[in-house]
Amino acid sequence: MKQESVKRSHSPSSPHPSISQSPHSLMAHLQHRRAENINGDFYVDRSCIDCDTCRWMAPEVFYAANGQSAVHHQPETEAERLHAMQALLACPTASIGTVERPTDIKTAQQSFPLLIDANVYHCGYHSEVSFAATSYLIQHPEGNVLVDSPRFTPPLVKRLEEMGGVRYLYLTHRDDVADHQKFRDHFDCDRILHQDDIGMGTQSVEIQLSGVEPTPLTADLLIIPVPGHSKGHTVLLYQNQFLFTGDHLAWSANRNRLVAFRDYCWYSWSAQVASMKKLTHYSFEWVLPGHGRRYHATPAAMQQQLQQCIAWMETV
Ligand code: SF4
Repeated sequence: MKQESVKRSHSPSSPHPSISQSPHSLMAHLQHRRAENINGDFYVDRSCIDCDTCRWMAPEVFYAANGQSAVHHQPETEAERLHAMQALLACPTASIGTVERPTDIKTAQQSFPLLIDANVYHCGYHSEVSFAATSYLIQHPEGNVLVDSPRFTPPLVKRLEEMGGVRYLYLTHRDDVADHQKFRDHFDCDRILHQDDIGMGTQSVEIQLSGVEPTPLTADLLIIPVPGHSKGHTVLLYQNQFLFTGDHLAWSANRNRLVAFRDYCWYSWSAQVASMKKLTHYSFEWVLPGHGRRYHATPAAMQQQLQQCIAWMETV
C-alpha cells in the first residue's frame, strides 16, 4: 500500500537540485518518461518514488499506475495547469517534467504556500529526505510556525520571508526533520522536538520536550505527546480546529476512513492505540498529516471517525 504508506526503505543519496537553477534542471528526464503517461506535455519519469503527493495535489492530472505515478490527463484549463505545475514543484524527486519549456513556473512558485483554511497553509516543496512528508505553515500573530520541514529552497524561503518569517519550527517526530538546520540558520527560529526523538542530527534543537503531558506553546497552540509511531512523536493542536498529526494519524482514500500505519509503527502499536484514545478528549475539525491524506469534518464526525479508527486499531 504505497499510496498512503510511510515508506522508509529508500536512502536519499544526493541533495535535491535547487530551484534557483534553470527550470529545466529541476525537471524529469524525457528519455526516462514512463510508458503509463498519456501523450502530451506533462509526464512522470522512472525516478518517481510513489509518494502520492502529485496525486492528491492534482488528481485531475496524475494517477497511480504500476507502482509509480503517471499522467492520465493533460491539463486543459488554467486551474489544471497550475495544479500540475504546483505538483511538479512539490515533487521531492523532480520526477515530473514538461516537454515544452514552461513559461509559468514563477506563477506556480509564487502560489506557495497554498492556503488550506483560515491562516493555515501547505508549504509544498516536499523533501525526499523525509520521504515527501507534508509540511505546513501557521501564520500566527505571535510568530509563524512551520510544522515539519519542507525542502529548503529559495522560492519558498522568499515567500516565507514575505509572510513574516518563521518563529518556531515544530517537528512532529524524528523522521520528518529534513532541512531543519537550514531553516534554523536562516530564520533563527526555535526548533521543537520531543527529547525521546532526538537523534544525531537534532541534538542542537532549541526546545526539547519531555514527558507525556500536553505542553502549550501559545494560548491557542497545544503540543500533545502521542508515543507509538516513534517514542517521542507529538501532535500539534491549533485553535481546537487543526490537528497536525505527522505520522500518527491520517485519512486513507483507499479505505475511506482515518487510519494509523500499522506496518510503519517503529516504537509500540499498543502505545499508539493508547495515544489515539487520548485524542478523543480533544475537539478538532482538520487532520493534517505528514503522510497520507488530509481530512476535514465537523467535530462530531471527526470523533466518530476517531472511534472507528481506534476500534480498527484494536483488531490488528
Ligand atoms: S510527487 Fe513525484 S515522487 Fe511523488 S508520486 Fe508524484 S511523481 Fe512520484
